Amino acid sequence: MTEIFLFNTLERKKTQLIPQNPKRVTMYVCGPTVYNRAHIGNMRPAIVFDVLFRLLRHTYGADHVVYARNITDVDDKINAAALAEGVDISVITRKYTEVYHQDIQSLNVLLPNLEPRATAHIGEIIALIQKLIDEGHAYTAEDGVYFHVPSMKNYGRLSGRNLEDMQAGARIEIDEKKKNPADFALWKAAKPNEVSWDAPFGAGRPGWHIECSAMIEKNLGQTIDIHGGGHDLIFPHHENEIAQSECAHGGATLANIWMHNGFLNFGSEKMSKSLGNVLNIAEITATFKPEAVRLAMLSAHYRAPLDWNDDLITQSTKTLDRLYRALENVWLDNVEAIAPQALIEALCDDINTPQALAVLSELVKNANKAQNDVDKKQALAELKGVGALLGILQLTPDEWFNDKPKDDDLNARIDALVAERTIARAEKNWGRADEIRKELAELKVEVKDGADGATWRFL
Ligand code: AMP
Ligand code: ZN
Repeated sequence: MTEIFLFNTLERKKTQLIPQNPKRVTMYVCGPTVYNRAHIGNMRPAIVFDVLFRLLRHTYGADHVVYARNITDVDDKINAAALAEGVDISVITRKYTEVYHQDIQSLNVLLPNLEPRATAHIGEIIALIQKLIDEGHAYTAEDGVYFHVPSMKNYGRLSGRNLEDMQAGARIEIDEKKKNPADFALWKAAKPNEVSWDAPFGAGRPGWHIECSAMIEKNLGQTIDIHGGGHDLIFPHHENEIAQSECAHGGATLANIWMHNGFLNFGSEKMSKSLGNVLNIAEITATFKPEAVRLAMLSAHYRAPLDWNDDLITQSTKTLDRLYRALENVWLDNVEAIAPQALIEALCDDINTPQALAVLSELVKNANKAQNDVDKKQALAELKGVGALLGILQLTPDEWFNDKPKDDDLNARIDALVAERTIARAEKNWGRADEIRKELAELKVEVKDGADGATWRFL
C-alpha cells in the first residue's frame, strides 16, 4: 500500500496519514451555511476533499472510510433570510441544502457518509457547553455563554497566534460582557424573532464553532484522522474547535491532520459574497460543461490559489475533448478500471492533482497509439482508473460529445439550424444547405444523419 502524505497545517509540513483504525478512517470537512446559493469558490473544498475521499476509499476500502461534511443550518444570515421572507428557518435551510446537493452532484462530488445538521445536534451541543462550564473553561454572561480562552494553556497552535499577540493586536473588539477580549461565544442568548432552544444556561442558540465540535464528537469520536476546510477557517473557526473539543476531552487531540484548501480568486481578488464578485454553478454551466469546471478546479494544487476565468474552463474543455477522443479510440465494453501506480503516487503526495493530470496526458498518448485489443483494453482500464479517482471521465465518449452546455439560446439556435438543414436538403436547396453547413462548422457543431433524423454534437 502506498503511504499517504498530507500537508498538516498543525505541523506546517507533510505528514504521513496513520489512521487510528484503518477499518474506520475518519474525515470531517466544514460544509456550507445554507442561507443562499453557494458560489464556485465554495465548490473548491467540496471537490478537493472529494478527491481525497476517493483516494481513502481506494486505499482502505469503501466501507472503511467515514466522511462527514456538516450543514450549518442555524446562524445570523439564515435568521435574517427567514425574517425577510417571513418563514421558518427550515424553509430557507431545506431549500438551499437541496440546491447545494444539486450543485455538487452536477460536479460529480460523492455524497459523504454523513451530513450532520447543527439543529439535529442541539442536545449534544448543550451537553458539551455544560461540560465546558462545569470544568471552568466557559462562563455565562448576560448575552450567552463564552469560552474563556486563557483557560487553555496551548491555545493558538493551529494558527500560530498566541493570546498575548491577539490581545495586543486591534483584531479583537473590546466587549464589556467578556472576561477576555479573545473569548468567543458558545451560546447566544435568545432574541425576539429568532429561533431558540431551552438550555440550563438560558434559552438561546449555538455559536458556529461549537456545532462542529459537537457533531464531530457525536458522529466520529473524540479524535479524528483528518479535518479539512478552506484556509480562511484556520482562525478563528478551527482554532476554536480545537479549544472546545480538547478542553472538553481532557486534552485529547481533536484531529491528527488538519488540511486547508487555498482560495479561488476572481480577477485580482478572492471570490467572496462580501466582495460581490461571486459566480455560481448555474451561471457557469450556462456556457461550460460541469465536468470542465471540475477539471479546472483540479488543475492547480489544492493549497495554491486558483485564478478563475473563462480561459481556464475553455482549456479544461479542450483537455476533456482530447481525453474523450482517446477514450473513443480505445472504447470496448465491460472493461474494469485499474488505477495506475503513477497516479496513486501523485495523489498520495498531498493530493498532487497537477501531477495526476500529467500522468493522464501520458495515458492519452498510449491510448492514441493502441492498435490491438490488448493495448486498447489496458489503456482504457487505466483511463477509467484515473477517471474514477479524480471524478472525471464518467461519461461515454458519445455522452460527452452530445452533452451540450446548458446555453438554451445557443442550443435552440443550433436545433433550428439543424432542422432547417433537413428541410433544405429535402427540398434539394443545396445553396441554403451549404450555408447552414458553414454556419454550423463555425459553431464547432458536427451533424450526423441517422435513421431517426439528424443529431448534432459539439466538436
Ligand atoms: P462559507 O459558506 O463561507 O462558510 O464557506 C464554505 C466553505 O467554502 C469553507 O470551507 C470556506 O473556507 C470555503 N470557501 C469560501 N470561499 C472560498 C473561495 N473563494 N475559495 C475557496 N474556498 C472557499
Ligand atoms: Zn467547522
